[in-house]
Amino acid sequence: MKTHFALILLLGLTAAPLQAITIVVDYSLDSNNFFNNQDKRDAMQAVADRYSRVITSSLAAVSPSGTGTGTSAGWRIGFKHPGTGASYQITTAANQGSDPLDTPGDPDDDADEYGFAGLATDVWILYAGARPLSSKGQGGTGTGLNFTSTFNDINGPMHRGFNDNTPSSTASDLPRWGGAITFDSNATWHFDLSSVAPFGASDFYSIALHEVGHALGLSTSWNQWNDNGGGVYVGSAAIAAYNLDNPGTVASLNLVSPSNPHFADGTYDSFIFASGTPITIGTVGSGLRQDLLMDPIANFSAQQKRFELTNVDVAALRDVGWETLAGVAPDPVQQPDNKVGPNLLTTIGDGIYNSAAGQTFTLISKRGAPIGGIVSVENDGDLSDNFLLSGSRGTSLFRVTYKESGGNITAAMISGTHQTGALAAGASANPVSVQIRPARSKLKKVIRRGGRRIVRFKKKRFTAIVGSESVTKATARDISVLKVRTK
Ligand SMILES: [Zn+2]
Repeated sequence: MKTHFALILLLGLTAAPLQAITIVVDYSLDSNNFFNNQDKRDAMQAVADRYSRVITSSLAAVSPSGTGTGTSAGWRIGFKHPGTGASYQITTAANQGSDPLDTPGDPDDDADEYGFAGLATDVWILYAGARPLSSKGQGGTGTGLNFTSTFNDINGPMHRGFNDNTPSSTASDLPRWGGAITFDSNATWHFDLSSVAPFGASDFYSIALHEVGHALGLSTSWNQWNDNGGGVYVGSAAIAAYNLDNPGTVASLNLVSPSNPHFADGTYDSFIFASGTPITIGTVGSGLRQDLLMDPIANFSAQQKRFELTNVDVAALRDVGWETLAGVAPDPVQQPDNKVGPNLLTTIGDGIYNSAAGQTFTLISKRGAPIGGIVSVENDGDLSDNFLLSGSRGTSLFRVTYKESGGNITAAMISGTHQTGALAAGASANPVSVQIRPARSKLKKVIRRGGRRIVRFKKKRFTAIVGSESVTKATARDISVLKVRTK
């Protein structure tokens, strides 16, 4: 299932120790009454709180009069009205007559709302609402009509103490007052955080988390977004996070295009950011990598029924200037990989884990002849590891012998205590030869036909399962299956 996100870009338009911003959701512009019950507002607040728990920057308070901020005569915030989609301007001026940005007789510069109370310390405002959209959601921020001094003032409403002008056009700097978020009022939404969206419904948490990301500056055209102008992301924190989650040394990440600054769709994965209490129900969880939250399409799948912030998305927040909690390094993968076949050159099961399907090999014993195969175990994890091996014991009709490098390890295999010894990531253990000897005397049957004595063998089956398990992580295991049929 695919759900399109949309992006809106609203252009033209004193550091404290570790503390969180508070995202205050404002529903005063929810003119279509989308958030008409507490469950919906709770889901919206959960999204806001997730960012509040992750972002540790301090935001300077800005008074309505602008005293001491350099704005001197009142100021505005501007954004897209979530209920109508129209440009919307809110001013700190008490009324039109006292609005220093209003030209009498010119309706073009009229504010839409008067008497804005200013910005409290660490509060970041999010105007939320809905209207019919062609995508599931939109999110962004804006500047509003203002004097140049407002854009240039590091302590003013657009910067709030962030000295992050890059490179010089401050009217294009990411506004830090807050933003607006809009949802498709015609979509079927799933608001419940304790369950996953049924087929046909859109998971509100996933879409809202993405759209608030835009309002905070991710995947936008504000100066602070670290693209190179040619559709390539070059922000160092996100690239480092990507290389940590996907061991390698990429120097950049592709965006959709120069004009669409989302990360390339479905191209990059990262582990869920584990700090700040993620909401994990329905997500890929801690062991798998998720599509980046800030790619353009929510590719919901059996594994990804809900999206969370990944390490790369949070690092991208740092790239646009926000301070965040430190990331938690992802758990390294531990995984043995069994392969089975008649000989080392003909094995199956490479890259298949914990399933007989795809790693079961059947041998045919004619006339009760002994027959054998091999099992090899490779370390597919990220770390050096040591695997315990186990093997099925024989029966009265089939005797099983396990050997390694010529040595008989049958007793240790049957008791599950044989160890491969330390294996570097990617290395393979000595193969284990599995020799199966049918009990010929018990399988043999003599038929007399017209005085002739014909020796036949009963058709019987035997299955030997060879298991492997990490010594340090019992859930990291694999099996391979060797079957024998007599004829
Ligand atoms: Zn988007």
